[in-house]
Amino acid sequence: MSVVTLTINDQLVSASSGETILQAARSVGIDIPTLCYVEGLTAHGGCRMCLVEVEGARQLQPACFLNVNEGMTIRTETDQLREYRKMIVELLLAEGNHTCSICVANNNCELQDAAVEMGVDHERLEYTYPQREVDVSHERFGVDHNRCILCTRCVRVCDELEGAHTWDISGRGANLKMITDMNQPWGESPTCTSCGKCFMACPTGAIFQKGSTASELDHNRAKLDFLINARENQLWEL
Ligand code: SF4
Ligand code: SF4
Repeated sequence: MSVVTLTINDQLVSASSGETILQAARSVGIDIPTLCYVEGLTAHGGCRMCLVEVEGARQLQPACFLNVNEGMTIRTETDQLREYRKMIVELLLAEGNHTCSICVANNNCELQDAAVEMGVDHERLEYTYPQREVDVSHERFGVDHNRCILCTRCVRVCDELEGAHTWDISGRGANLKMITDMNQPWGESPTCTSCGKCFMACPTGAIFQKGSTASELDHNRAKLDFLINARENQLWEL
């Protein structure tokens, strides 16, 4: 892979040609917010939080998907981008029943963190508040579809890291929903190994561990990072 030079926020950055804008930016300490992205898993590009401005491009581009090119000029922090990101968080909060104070992931939630970071201190949009189901049929875990932001992290981690492919997404538009196997209760899944990787990857309180109070809930993202690093670099010892 060749080395390319690009400019991010007026800073000259060197990157490998196969890297994405997000990877190049993070390698030099420039943070671009994400929700559906997990380092080491396939990029999904669904949440649009990582949109950036690329000089010469007519539309905003998702940094997790677009590869770097020689001479690119990118902006990751502008008033327009900040307003877009804030709107994305507001849409997600208005779309599902996110009542943080009674959520098992309160203070341990990436959506909540993003809301704080984007300055969302009230909701400008009307709540849709659909009544979605909670599946607690699994022996160790539960899924509250009200908290789900359809980021597909659970799908990708279960498929790409665990190899079980228990999770999938079904439906269209407002009827999009995470399902296990053939849309059966999670507890009846013949493929789930109960490894807990989907729980660790879930950014919100949608997938939760049974018996955990809010203060005990720990997604333990470091364990996922370890597994991804071990798989990619063949480093299996702690
Ligand atoms: S517990 Fe493991 S195998 Fe079961 S759905 Fe979650 S990631 Fe997949
Ligand atoms: S259950 Fe969690 S990880 Fe899966 S799509 Fe919903 S929010 Fe994302």
